[in-house]
Amino acid sequence: MADYELTGKTVLVTGGAGFIGSHVLDHLIGKGASVVVFDNLSSGRMEFIEHHLDSDDLTMIKGDLLDTDAIDAACKGVDMVFHLAANPDVRLGAVDTRVHFDQNITATYNLLEAMRKACVPNIAFTSTSTVYGEADMVPTPEDYGPLVPISLYGASKLACEALITSYSHTFDMRACIFRFANIVGERSTHGIIVDLIEKLRNDPDNLEILGDGRQSKSYLYVTSCVDAVLFAVEHSDEQVNIFNIGSEDTIDATGIGEIVVDEMGLEDVEFTYTGGSRGWKGDVPRMMLSVDRVKAIGWHPDTSSGDSVRSTVRVLLK
Ligand code: NAD
Repeated sequence: MADYELTGKTVLVTGGAGFIGSHVLDHLIGKGASVVVFDNLSSGRMEFIEHHLDSDDLTMIKGDLLDTDAIDAACKGVDMVFHLAANPDVRLGAVDTRVHFDQNITATYNLLEAMRKACVPNIAFTSTSTVYGEADMVPTPEDYGPLVPISLYGASKLACEALITSYSHTFDMRACIFRFANIVGERSTHGIIVDLIEKLRNDPDNLEILGDGRQSKSYLYVTSCVDAVLFAVEHSDEQVNIFNIGSEDTIDATGIGEIVVDEMGLEDVEFTYTGGSRGWKGDVPRMMLSVDRVKAIGWHPDTSSGDSVRSTVRVLLK
């Protein structure tokens, strides 16, 4: 029995035209929810949601979370918010120190204020493994601490988590916070797989990998991730619920390169490495999350990191 039913609810999805957000939209509509997508289309694409545009169950608002009037209006009459809109580019923080502060922290504050004013009692938020920083416990459980992010992106997401938990307690909201491993799959527009495919299309003989290639992380296919998120929203009953979402193994950067080369049908590709244990400043070289908490409520990852990567390469090459 679900503790909370999404069927029949009106749900606002910020970032609903993005990579993961558009899959959230697919799953929510599949469940019989009415969905309002709120997206500024900075990295989201209308083509990701166009198959729902004729549906009475979708309302698309092109709006920006930094526009408080727009998000205030969008929250009226909503039962629950799935908050995915963000700038998800971890590397960007090293060259632009403002972007994650504005797009993640201020944007989340504006959304929480709009929810408070419109009395929207329920939020699901997409956080990240990077809030843990370089954890010395791997797999890392949700109660690991202290949380010491090493990227501005991770810091901004941790700040968002703190805003959400404090709003929940102060204004009687329920929150589900999801700390994602690397999520990959159809409609991916960024990340290592997209980068490596592009590099090999430009030069099929050489593949440059950032770092020493041994950065080893957990990858999960997007439909499994969204399945976990919706399952946890419906089956968790604390006021604040924090869940790691990922696969239960890892793959390293060289291993991903080998899958990309294999799926592109290339041979004799020379791998070169930029060197150092991390790909960029703020990169966490070793990441795998404990998913025991979400398993305890009944969701189990159904795919490995390697299979998630291979399926993604296949779908992106189509
Ligand atoms: P994405 O860039 O595809 O999605 C973000 C969406 O938010 C886009 O559609 C974009 O247009 C929209 N957006 C950005 N700023 C906005 C603003 N100010 N107002 C309105 N809309 C705005 O990225 P994604 O990979 O789908 O990530 C979705 C969420 O999941 C993000 O919160 C991200 O931090 C989180 N996350 C992703 C991963 C991953 O591996 N992809 C891992 C951990 C966490």
